[in-house]
Amino acid sequence: MTGTTDTSAISLRFKETFGQAPDGVWQAPGRVNLIGEHTDYNEGFVLPFAIDRTARVALRLRDDSRVRLLSTFGGQGLVEASLDDLRPGSGQGWSRYPLGVAWALQERGVVVPGFDLLLDSDVPLGAGLSSSHAIECAVITALNEVTGAGLGAEELVLETQRAENLFVGAPTGIMDQSASLRGAKGHAVFLDCRDQHVDLVPFDAEASGLVLLVIDTKVSHSHADGGYASRRASCELGAQVLGVRALRDVGVEDLEEAAGVLDGTTLRRVRHVVTENDRVLQAVELLGAQGPGSIGHLLDASHASMRDDFEISCPELDLAVETSRANGSIGARMTGGGFGGSAIALTPVGHEQQVRSAVVRSFARAGFTEPDIFTVTPAAGALRLA
Ligand code: ADP
Ligand code: MG
Repeated sequence: MTGTTDTSAISLRFKETFGQAPDGVWQAPGRVNLIGEHTDYNEGFVLPFAIDRTARVALRLRDDSRVRLLSTFGGQGLVEASLDDLRPGSGQGWSRYPLGVAWALQERGVVVPGFDLLLDSDVPLGAGLSSSHAIECAVITALNEVTGAGLGAEELVLETQRAENLFVGAPTGIMDQSASLRGAKGHAVFLDCRDQHVDLVPFDAEASGLVLLVIDTKVSHSHADGGYASRRASCELGAQVLGVRALRDVGVEDLEEAAGVLDGTTLRRVRHVVTENDRVLQAVELLGAQGPGSIGHLLDASHASMRDDFEISCPELDLAVETSRANGSIGARMTGGGFGGSAIALTPVGHEQQVRSAVVRSFARAGFTEPDIFTVTPAAGALRLA
């Protein structure tokens, strides 16, 4: 059912499930972060892009306040809820994402009627490609339109964040939904996390004879939550000792002085964030001037910084990166929060197969779970399909 722009299949399935045709079909993509990791909550820079894997929702408003939800993914079956009873923490499984954005809209005074919704997504779950934000962004785009709320992209970004932070209870920032809502075909989204300023930066890898491979290690380390919290705490401590609002306000030229006042661990955490912000700025400049083939060294440096200074890599991610580089990729790094998830490898078209087989072989040799390897291209942000 997925992978085409034909909406007849999802509309038909909607009608079979709920008895009537949907009011419309909307879609929103997952995202991959090209560079800029753990810089978002330091009010810094990120450079993600919307990918060609999307969550689609067919939706029909009801004349009561009931909500009925079904995903083609299966598992949970039909979920029913009432918009009158939504409270932070309520709902289970994936229903928290659509219910969360409905709740956030209600909280800001938008009158949200009940609705029936069918979800069909081909964004892989839990691979660090933000399958959850793809759902939220598809639903909030649909609700924004059918309720006539007319909110702009920046407001939708913030409402989606409130849904995640307050309703779902996940302490996430604004990167994922900014990419999903504001992305564009052939472009990466250069986002300033301090003021939500966005510049679309050309990133047409294909035209440069390159592909971006995603290597999903299938590792989900149990200490990811604790690791994230402790990294955030180190960054806050660093900013406090250095007397700045956020690490965004520290430049590479300040690091020598910082070394004199920070303890060893905090210095390394701070150094990652400061140099990573600088790498994002360099990447934006290089992409504009010379194109995708010029940023390989920045991806490599980003990975080394996360492995050695921020200490959020793991053996599977390091092996994916090293093997890709040894087999023709021009730059590679882990992407996402760390401790597992996916790596990306910018690879000349002619080397793609070699990199794939080499990574699969090296994982087998190391006794790791077989990784999932696929390509992603920068695609359109959230939109209405029908
Ligand atoms: P990520 O966003 O990185 O993929 P998360 O843990 O934030 O990982 O979100 C994954 C969750 O999103 C799943 O546990 C599930 O609840 C929900 N989800 C994603 N895609 C679907 C789908 N097609 N059908 C139902 N639930 C989905
Ligand atoms: Mg998520």
